[in-house]
Amino acid sequence: MKTDNLHTGNCRIAVYPGTFDPITNGHIDIIRRAAPIFQKVYVTIAVNSAKQPLFSLEERLDLVRRSIEGIPGVEVSAFSGLVVDHARQVGATVIIRGLRAISDFEYEFQIALMNRKQYHLVDTVFLMPDERYTYLSSSLVKEIARHGGKVECFVPEFVETAMREKFSKETRE
Ligand code: ADP
Repeated sequence: MKTDNLHTGNCRIAVYPGTFDPITNGHIDIIRRAAPIFQKVYVTIAVNSAKQPLFSLEERLDLVRRSIEGIPGVEVSAFSGLVVDHARQVGATVIIRGLRAISDFEYEFQIALMNRKQYHLVDTVFLMPDERYTYLSSSLVKEIARHGGKVECFVPEFVETAMREKFSKETRE
């Protein structure tokens, strides 16, 4: 049985792990909801994601850093290996994940239980974004941007610019 829990006040540090390739308004919505709940939230970028990212780690760090400007108690970090090891390193006992739809649930449920098996002090907290973002994913946004579609209501302006630059470089190559 875990001894540190929300009631002892020892789990006020949270990590919000993901690929963030790139960060979208859906991610930012989750970060804004998490920030007042925890003392500190680390938005932590997976270095060795199974996904082949469009943006390098440095680019993703920069886009996240710019997106969290002005949100108190939020920092960006990166991790390779297990997210629970990173949580342990930064003293976090909460993993935040966003739930958009029931379809996210099964995978997230499995990962949450697996993470708790790896590190018994860690619990996963699921946050639901505003309905406007429930159909939004980084991969969908990239697909639209790649074909020249409008993405301004899905990502901050600097993310849109970064995607446009990536894709125009792609077509030049
Ligand atoms: P991962 O590859 O780990 O799923 P993502 O960057 O795609 O990384 O997502 C990170 C987290 O943010 C996940 O918990 C995901 O469900 C959540 N998320 C992604 N898009 C949204 C969105 N539009 N609204 C709410 N949560 C989201």
